[in-house]
Amino acid sequence: MPITAYSKEAAREVDLEQWLMLNHYSIKGDPLLERMPVELREKAARDIECSGCRAHGAMLVAVGRQRGVGRSVSQGHFRFGTAGGANPHHPFCDFYFDEKAPRNADYLVNFASDKSTFTRVVRDLVCRGIRAGHFGQGDIRRMRLWFLDEKTAHAMPLDVTPELLNWCVDMDGARFARELPFQPEHGQMPGFDWTQAAKSEWCRRNAGLFEERPIRVHFRSEAIQRALKLIELKGSATVLDPTALREKYETVVQLSEFAAIYLYHQVGEKPKNHWRIDG
Ligand SMILES: [Zn+2]
Repeated sequence: MPITAYSKEAAREVDLEQWLMLNHYSIKGDPLLERMPVELREKAARDIECSGCRAHGAMLVAVGRQRGVGRSVSQGHFRFGTAGGANPHHPFCDFYFDEKAPRNADYLVNFASDKSTFTRVVRDLVCRGIRAGHFGQGDIRRMRLWFLDEKTAHAMPLDVTPELLNWCVDMDGARFARELPFQPEHGQMPGFDWTQAAKSEWCRRNAGLFEERPIRVHFRSEAIQRALKLIELKGSATVLDPTALREKYETVVQLSEFAAIYLYHQVGEKPKNHWRIDG
């Protein structure tokens, strides 16, 4: 149930009250939207698109009021659906699960919520960019749809198991062990640790794999917790293959590093972790 959606006619993202105002309908005179003309509801279904995908069929949901008290208990919003009850959102849309079932996705950054630090930082940057005239809301809309299309074009099944991920952490931790190359006679030593020796030998023989890995990828147990949660909840999900956008991600990392260093020199503020995009 998105609070805002994209109006094709206005070429920008609006909330329910703004859309009604643009269409000369007073929500104050009809807070429960009981007297809204059929034509206006039909126009909403045509004009409004989900801001995360190209879903149509928006229904306008009025502000909810508590019985007796008259106090607002929910904000007016848009609901996307079809007469047959189908979910019109693209499966990769941020709002796909909102229409289907309550969101249970604390392993993801929820950009649909206005409560997270990420959302606040993104909103701040977007507002500055628009104010400075670098881009407009139409560009943001095009960027969102471009990203949706990239996700569709480079989709891949998530086929990593928790066992494999934990094994990577285990082997990554073992790679610093400085042991002699294995010789069969080592096994004759009292209390010889075969498991440790096997790990060390594997790391020694596959040292090239560790060098191939990008410096920002960390196989540490605390770093894989969100990934493990993702596997647990969405074992067979289809996700974006991030290697398809490697060049763009690297550009973003460069920009964020520049911003962190610039901030440090300008105000003497030590760069904080949330400016870094690691792993
Ligand atoms: Zn959508």
